[in-house]
Amino acid sequence: MSEIEKFIEHLQLDGIPLAHLSTRPEDLQKYGRDWSTQNPSHPCCILFPDSIEEIQKMVLGARKYKIPLVPSGGRTGLSGGALAPNGEAIVSLERMNKILEFNPIDATLCCQAGVITQEIQIFAEAQGLCYPVDFAAKGSSQIGGNVATNAGGIKVVRYGLTRNWVAGLRVVTGTGELLELNRSLVKDATGYDLKHLFLGSEGTLGIIAEVTLQLTSLPKSVETLLLGVSDLECIMKLFRLFRNETRLMAFEFFTDLALHLVRKHNGLPDPLPSPCPYYLVVETEGSPRERILSLFEKAMESGWLIDGVISENAAQTRDLWRLREEIGEAIIPKEPYKNDVSVKISRVPDLLREVDTLIRRDYPDFQVVWFGHVGDGNLHINVMKPEALTSSEFQKRCEHVNEKLFQVVEKMGGSISAEHGVGITKRAYLHHTRSQSEIDSMKKIKDVFDPDHILNPGKIFINNKSF
Ligand SMILES: Cc1cc2nc3c(=O)[nH]c(=O)nc-3n(C[C@H](O)[C@H](O)[C@H](O)COP(=O)(O)OP(=O)(O)OC[C@H]3O[C@@H](n4cnc5c(N)ncnc54)[C@H](O)[C@@H]3O)c2cc1C
Repeated sequence: MSEIEKFIEHLQLDGIPLAHLSTRPEDLQKYGRDWSTQNPSHPCCILFPDSIEEIQKMVLGARKYKIPLVPSGGRTGLSGGALAPNGEAIVSLERMNKILEFNPIDATLCCQAGVITQEIQIFAEAQGLCYPVDFAAKGSSQIGGNVATNAGGIKVVRYGLTRNWVAGLRVVTGTGELLELNRSLVKDATGYDLKHLFLGSEGTLGIIAEVTLQLTSLPKSVETLLLGVSDLECIMKLFRLFRNETRLMAFEFFTDLALHLVRKHNGLPDPLPSPCPYYLVVETEGSPRERILSLFEKAMESGWLIDGVISENAAQTRDLWRLREEIGEAIIPKEPYKNDVSVKISRVPDLLREVDTLIRRDYPDFQVVWFGHVGDGNLHINVMKPEALTSSEFQKRCEHVNEKLFQVVEKMGGSISAEHGVGITKRAYLHHTRSQSEIDSMKKIKDVFDPDHILNPGKIFINNKSF
């Protein structure tokens, strides 16, 4: 009997129902993949716990038989964090999909980790409240995955990251112990706030089982604009204007090439009468329309804008957002190699220029689609695969680009991964953003919560201890 067979038998003897584990090839295929495309994944089995007790039994069994576990949410991750490249067992949280409690006075919601992000938004709205972390994958991603990646998205400029909205966590560590972190207190000055260690831990420290979220009030008087801009300096001037004069909710960016591809994909009409090099989707809250119109006029008179449109109704707002949010989907057929970097907001034009020059000079056959969250300094760089290259040739060349790209990012004091995590795809480049002593400290923290390296080994760091 192999160790895996012994592990599965052990789980069954320990009371895990047969329906909560699978080795069916279609499940291995489905749950073995996330949205990253470059790395293999061969899980030995898929586990579907439906309670904290079952998660604990699975972790204890995995420790006994030395079977590494990969926590898995909605599998929308873009860095390979939920892949099982070395025959690991995947722990899918999909059965743990219940909203457990809503407290109207605290404005908190407690749910299991497998609840889909959008369901939380819908639930909050039905209570007259808002869960404000918002991004294109919300219809598939799970709240546990959002916590594990500290997800950002399109409204970070107003509401910050997932971290800002987590009031409490229940987490099963690599020893099988259950930690109850922060218990939804607004104030708790009793030492280290361990909750924050699990935000962005990418499944390497514990399996997030339950999350308590802080909700906020619904935004009022929201205005959405699409602006066409001729140069990067003007983008910064517009950012300053809207940030200073309004409560800015979103400040999103894409290029003419991105617009061309997304329109080809979704068939939406051109939003402006003539093409512009750059586009912004800007959203404000709480300012009357007249105020937004006067800012728009000021920007036009100052020559910061080529043209623009202010949404007149909900359908138009949705369509303007589709032009930004469906870019990721639109470029899939071009097998993009994705990078997700950040710098200080004021350095965005320098970064864009320098990387553009680098790619044009050294990789003239590469076409790059830029888009991202300029309002928080985060740009997505998507290199399209030239038809002449095979997928593996393309990947090798992109890895060459990475070295040069990340040197630029490092020089500018930026990050090699703004919000998509490190996973597998960025682990070789961690040193461009984190010092050796920071990396050593992170590894020591992993040893505390997961001494046998049962949880997601080989993610974030290359040389994790493994069996
Ligand atoms: C079209 C598209 C747009 C996107 N836009 C954004 C964006 O704007 N901002 C942004 O931040 N991200 C974005 N992403 C990336 C992705 O959606 C986020 O990283 C999301 O938070 C991942 O959640 P998930 O449930 O899909 O996690 P998964 O992909 O399943 O897992 C991601 C990581 O979290 C770990 N994990 C998952 N669940 C748990 C758990 N319960 N306990 C412990 N660890 C766990 C996994 O091991 C893995 O390391 C986008 C992705 C796509 C495909």
